[in-house]
Amino acid sequence: MDQPNQSYSRGSQDKALLAMTIGQAFDRTVAQHSDGDALIVRHQNLRYTWQQLADAVDLHARALLALGLQAGDRLGVWAPNCAEWVISQVASAKLGVILVNINPAYRSSELEYVLKQSGCQWLICAGAFKSSDYHAMLQELVPELAEQSIGQLHCEKLPGLRGVISLAPRPPSGFLPWSQLSTMGAGIPPQQLHARQASLHFDQAVNIQYTSGTTGFPKGATLSHHNILNNGYMVGESLGLTAQDRLVIPVPLYHCFGMVMGNLGCITHGTTMIYPNDGFDPLLTLTAVAQEQATGLYGVPTMFIAMLDHPRRAEFDLSSLRTGIMAGATCPIEVMRRVISEMHMSEVQIAYGMTETSPVSLQTGPDDGLELRVTTVGRTQPQLESKIIDEAGNTVARGQIGELCTRGYSVMLGYWNNPQGSREAIDDAGWMHTGDLATMDEQGYVCIAGRNKDMIIRGGENVYPRELEEFFFTHPAVADVQIIGIPDARYGEEIVAWVKFHPGHVANELELQTWCKGRIAHFKTPKHFKFVDEFPMTVTGKIQKFRMREITIEELLGRD
Ligand code: AMP
Repeated sequence: MDQPNQSYSRGSQDKALLAMTIGQAFDRTVAQHSDGDALIVRHQNLRYTWQQLADAVDLHARALLALGLQAGDRLGVWAPNCAEWVISQVASAKLGVILVNINPAYRSSELEYVLKQSGCQWLICAGAFKSSDYHAMLQELVPELAEQSIGQLHCEKLPGLRGVISLAPRPPSGFLPWSQLSTMGAGIPPQQLHARQASLHFDQAVNIQYTSGTTGFPKGATLSHHNILNNGYMVGESLGLTAQDRLVIPVPLYHCFGMVMGNLGCITHGTTMIYPNDGFDPLLTLTAVAQEQATGLYGVPTMFIAMLDHPRRAEFDLSSLRTGIMAGATCPIEVMRRVISEMHMSEVQIAYGMTETSPVSLQTGPDDGLELRVTTVGRTQPQLESKIIDEAGNTVARGQIGELCTRGYSVMLGYWNNPQGSREAIDDAGWMHTGDLATMDEQGYVCIAGRNKDMIIRGGENVYPRELEEFFFTHPAVADVQIIGIPDARYGEEIVAWVKFHPGHVANELELQTWCKGRIAHFKTPKHFKFVDEFPMTVTGKIQKFRMREITIEELLGRD
């Protein structure tokens, strides 16, 4: 029940949580809809019914058993969207193996960090994607791969790693080809898989997703079956998903938008998952919607903008669409209007959340009018609580601004191997402090007012200034650096680096951008650089990022 005066609200209690593991939920859907379409992967030309998907999942799970993966072990996946991604997601869940999502745009230093921090025993990698050659990066990071027999790896830098599975048809030596897994799986009796599955419970960790927060290096949000299965379920319930629905998922699977709201939303409702491509492509997404007669579509605002503005959009009949979700960043009003009128998504909803809360904690409902969908992020999701607090930790009055906090089944177990980080994020009463500034109105609708933390969201990808600053500090010429985000019509925000050089050192914009290439993900590379002797400071010596933003925007406008 809501507190009328205080910014506290509790979601509906009417819908019961699912008290089962992901494997059990998957098996239930397979039993109910065995011949229905489960998965369509257009760029791989693959189609599975629920029964066919279950066969692939079980065979793969048995192969992972053959590799010796125990419950609680970590399996990394470093690949763009593909059938093998979701097969690995469900197979690992059936074994109680913790899937570690690795952003396919990560380069070697980021990969090394997450593999080491999570202690992955096995890694599944793609062959190549965009400008990333995964084999080459791994051969550099793990030179021992080529010399040792498969599964017997002893790597100096990554002592826990036992082997790497490659999705490429003919990987270099040392990589275990994915295609060999079926033979390995066939050698393990199905009873072994059933026994493992029966030994699991839903509060166990099943997934680690890296997110940097405000404090430098990425932290591994550790999520249980209960966390993410129920979040996918509740998101799907809000959309009214059924086994007749067909959902196009162009958002990345390494992020909770794809693997929880997408895959688990569909798995819990018997809805068809449709991947239009390995990475986002507006034309291929529009084609998938039209040709597959999709009823739902997901995206961050920049993706919808790219589809709406595509010169060939009028060629596609999108009238099968009814619903979908726009999330991840504030949706511009005009974009929402056009998605409803020009893409026929009359029931499109806004969702708000963060990785640490599985992700969704607030969502607009099917009956919310356009005004609420363009000005708010909806109300508290079923079975969750929200509140808004001031700096002293007191709940503020309705309409007052403060930090948004979330409590309930969706709050992560904690950050992997980082008890201090977990304590800072989740307080003793179980509230996750989001770092987002928000207000709550009399009816419990929440508006996001900005970010407490200075995270940049560029084209739906989170960029953490602190992490980038640490990275630039490793450049020999850089004495000090500050990273800021400025508004950008195409990407929402663009990254700007203010750099101070060591005396006697210089570098130009191109040199610094070239230096970033291959070392950090392309989306983190600053678009603009400003070379300075001093940063704007307060009298007490605190750097004024807001001043830097103002100055940069003024200068860039002046340049046009
Ligand atoms: P992530 O952990 O990658 O899911 O990013 C979470 C952050 O994205 C939140 O803390 C918000 O700052 C932002 N965010 C997510 N959804 C929305 C939304 N609907 N509107 C505004 N900001 C959002």
